[in-house]
Amino acid sequence: MKPGAFEYRKATTVKDAVAWLHSDLNSKILAGGQSLVPVMNFRLAHPSLLVDINEIAALHQITFNADTVTLGALVRHQEMAESTEVRDRLPLLAVTARHIGHWAIRNRGTLGGSLAHADPASEWPAVMVALEAQIQVEGPDGARTIPASEFYLGYYTTELAADEIVTAVTISRTRHRLGFAEVARRPGDFALAGSIVEDFGDGQGSVTWFGVAGKPERVVLALPEEESARARSFQSALGKLSQLDDDRHRQQLAVTVAERAFQHSRLTGHEYLTFEGGQV
Ligand SMILES: Cc1cc2nc3c(=O)[nH]c(=O)nc-3n(C[C@H](O)[C@H](O)[C@H](O)COP(=O)(O)OP(=O)(O)OC[C@H]3O[C@@H](n4cnc5c(N)ncnc54)[C@H](O)[C@@H]3O)c2cc1C
Repeated sequence: MKPGAFEYRKATTVKDAVAWLHSDLNSKILAGGQSLVPVMNFRLAHPSLLVDINEIAALHQITFNADTVTLGALVRHQEMAESTEVRDRLPLLAVTARHIGHWAIRNRGTLGGSLAHADPASEWPAVMVALEAQIQVEGPDGARTIPASEFYLGYYTTELAADEIVTAVTISRTRHRLGFAEVARRPGDFALAGSIVEDFGDGQGSVTWFGVAGKPERVVLALPEEESARARSFQSALGKLSQLDDDRHRQQLAVTVAERAFQHSRLTGHEYLTFEGGQV
């Protein structure tokens, strides 16, 4: 199918984009188009105006500071997989990016688009919640920062107003050991279940899932050395999710992927990156 008629405008500044969104609350931002365009083609979305933000240079940047990294909303998934700095300094992001769709999708799809789209099976929302990221947004009343933990409200629903844009995400680089794992039916498919585990090193840690609940939530839990005790801890953490899917199969997968993510947190950054991408 093809989309209905719409007006198209190309913004070169965030200010213009916000003003156009504000002038027509039935407008939509066009970033990579990898989620929006299929939804429009199926006539599930009927925006009257598309505001293309791809030419806003400031949104493409990745900036490393001493303790933080700031990722612009237009950083593409594939850039995250290939950037030498990201691979060296935050390998979790490079590993995660490899799991998103196929190359063509990764080559166009953007971090900001994925965060705003809020698909509960998407990798980036869960990763940003797991890393306690700060999401920067801009609207007609100026800029504001929303902790990722407060950004997601439920299935495809966020705190973002219709006339606000995600501009960047800031992550602290001083994290403990991190691991990622997901299970999908075929390489390139959305995950049936996925997980990010952070091991604090003192028998405690955190787990964040995607694909198993309406929104990502970070749960702090005990990470005992003994595997069956760890499985019970993951199971109990799963029960704390406010929008847990009632599919028992997914719940079992969730415990399995959390254990794999825990195992991956024991790999060094280099081992992690050379780990077979599709195998986890
Ligand atoms: C076959 C297929 C497989 C896929 N597999 C996966 C997968 O495994 N994992 C996964 O995570 N994703 C997957 N995707 C989705 C892909 O990652 C998209 O790139 C992503 O969801 C949306 O990013 P985008 O830049 O393409 O956004 P767009 O499609 O342009 O926009 C998506 C939505 O976000 C809004 N938006 C975009 N940018 C911003 C912004 N900066 N501020 C505010 N709102 C904004 C748009 O208005 C729209 O509502 C898949 C897509 C396809 C077609």
